[in-house]
Amino acid sequence: MKRRSFMGLLTALFALWVAAAPLQARDTGALSAAKIRQAVQEAYEKFKNDDSGKNADYIQALAKVDPKIFGISVVTRDGRVFEAGDTKAAVSIQSISKVFTASLVMRQHGAKFLQEKIGANATGLPFNSIMAIELHHGSASNPFVNAGAIQSTSWVSASDSAERWLKIKNNMDAYAGRKLPFNGEVYKSEVNDNKRNQAIAKLLDAYGRMGSDPLEATTVYTKQCSVNVTSHDLGVMGATLANHGVNPVTGERVLQEAYVPRLLAVMATAGLYDNAGDWLFATGAPAKSGVGGGLLTVIPGKLAIGVVSPPLDKYGNSVRAQKATIYIIEKLGLNPYAQ
Ligand code: GLN
Repeated sequence: MKRRSFMGLLTALFALWVAAAPLQARDTGALSAAKIRQAVQEAYEKFKNDDSGKNADYIQALAKVDPKIFGISVVTRDGRVFEAGDTKAAVSIQSISKVFTASLVMRQHGAKFLQEKIGANATGLPFNSIMAIELHHGSASNPFVNAGAIQSTSWVSASDSAERWLKIKNNMDAYAGRKLPFNGEVYKSEVNDNKRNQAIAKLLDAYGRMGSDPLEATTVYTKQCSVNVTSHDLGVMGATLANHGVNPVTGERVLQEAYVPRLLAVMATAGLYDNAGDWLFATGAPAKSGVGGGLLTVIPGKLAIGVVSPPLDKYGNSVRAQKATIYIIEKLGLNPYAQ
């Protein structure tokens, strides 16, 4: 009797092992260091001479950035790094900062607050659309269009705008695991070119949607867009989200685990503006772009891909960054919907 149940236990364990084996093989296979390294290198070689797209020029300083910059960094949730190209070249973070400010709003006020005050729906319209606000009765729709981002900034709890900026900057630094440099030239240029954002903030204020003074919030938002990042920084920032809110390099928790899927959901819905649907169709992956040429993609629970390359398509998304990221996702079988 005793012997029989021992054999039974052995058989059950064997069956479990057989059932789990394909899963394990697939996981480690897809994420083996050699395979990731090869995919990153191939993506770099394949697209390094692709000069399609054009730098943003509605902010003068962005037009002057070297369009040849091209860096790719994959950072896994346990902090391994695989890179190719200009991984030390910095561009201004621009709209990718919106992810981290929305994260801070959730950390301070919860996910429900973000959804109810700002929203979690796509607008289907350009990122700086004023019409989108009017069509949605004063709602910004989501924190990744300019309206929702300026609104997020305004809702960061602080005693004044200087402290608000400090909290936003410290939060981005915690995601990156280092003090990110501030790009004074981009800030000066943008603060003179941001009349449209001022109008957006004033309109939201007229609808009673702002948490602090609209013009002050626009200035803080412009500052947060002027922080410099490399592809390596974007990789680490994204890996923090892939690692459920804990920076894999510093070990610091920067966002409550429960809020990470909420943030990723908004990235999937609206991360690449009015082209977010096509992006999701191609990759299945939450991502966020910026007009500085950065693109940050998260493969939940696994890794992040940070790419920097300034020339943009007509939606304002980096051409080479999208191509390189799609290549890596396909090559490594990382589409979350195909797991
Ligand atoms: N700072 C830019 C703006 O407000 C950010 C836009 C973007 O990256 N899409 O227009």
